[in-house]
Amino acid sequence: MIQLEGITKSFGNLQVLRGIDLNIDKGEIVSIVGPSGAGKTTLLQIMGTLDAPDGGMVIIDGTLVSRMKEKELSAFRNKHIGFVFQFHQLLPEFTALENVMIPAFIAGVGQKEATASAMELLEFMGLSDRAEHKPNELSGGEKQRVAVARALINHPAVVLADEPSGSLDTHNKEELHQLFFDLRNRFGQTFVIVTHDEGLAQITDRTVHMVDGEISKEM
Ligand code: ADP
Repeated sequence: MIQLEGITKSFGNLQVLRGIDLNIDKGEIVSIVGPSGAGKTTLLQIMGTLDAPDGGMVIIDGTLVSRMKEKELSAFRNKHIGFVFQFHQLLPEFTALENVMIPAFIAGVGQKEATASAMELLEFMGLSDRAEHKPNELSGGEKQRVAVARALINHPAVVLADEPSGSLDTHNKEELHQLFFDLRNRFGQTFVIVTHDEGLAQITDRTVHMVDGEISKEM
C-alpha cells in the first residue's frame, strides 16, 4: 500500500532523512517511534504527499506520487489519504457533522451522500448524538474522534496520524487507539501512526524505530 525507496530529505544543511526504505501492507497498522528530531513527522508528511523528498520514490496504492504535480497531487491526497493531527484542527464555526463532510464536498460528493456517509461514521464512533454540536461543545476525546471521522469520509486507503492521542488523557487515549483497530477491521484501512505512546506502539502490527533520519529497527 505504501512503498518508500531511498527517501532523503534535508532542510538547509540539516539532513533529516538519510535513505529510508519502508513497505507497508494494506490493512497494516504501523507505529513510528523514536526521539524528538529523528525525522518521524517529516517522513509522515512525505508519505502523505504534503512534502516532497529530495531523493527516492514514494508509491501509494500503486501510484508513483513523488513525480506528480501539485494540482494532481492535491486531488490524489484528498481521495486516498486521511490525516489526523495531535490537535484536532476542526473548524470552530461548523458542527461536528459539517466538519466531517468537508473533505467529501471537496471531492465533489453531493450533499445527501456526504451526509449519509458522515452520519454512518459518527454513529460508528458513538457520536451520533453529537453531530449537531460545534467543536467547543465537545470533549477532547470527542473532538479527536470527529477528526478521525473527517479523515475517513472519503474512504482513503491510507490514514496517517501524527501524535493523535498526544493531547488526550489515558481513558480517551485508549478509546482512540481501540478505534483505529475497529476501523481497520471494519473498513480495511492502512494506518501509520507517529507516537510517543508506548502502549500504542506495543499493540500495533509493527513498530518502526527511527533515530537520526534512519530506521534503526523494526519489530
Ligand atoms: P520528529 O518528528 O522525529 O520529532 P521532525 O521530522 O519533526 O522530527 O524533524 C526532524 C528535524 O528536522 C528537526 O531537527 C526539525 O527541527 C527539522 N525540521 C523539520 N521540519 C523543518 C522545516 N520545515 N524547516 C527546517 N527544519 C525542519
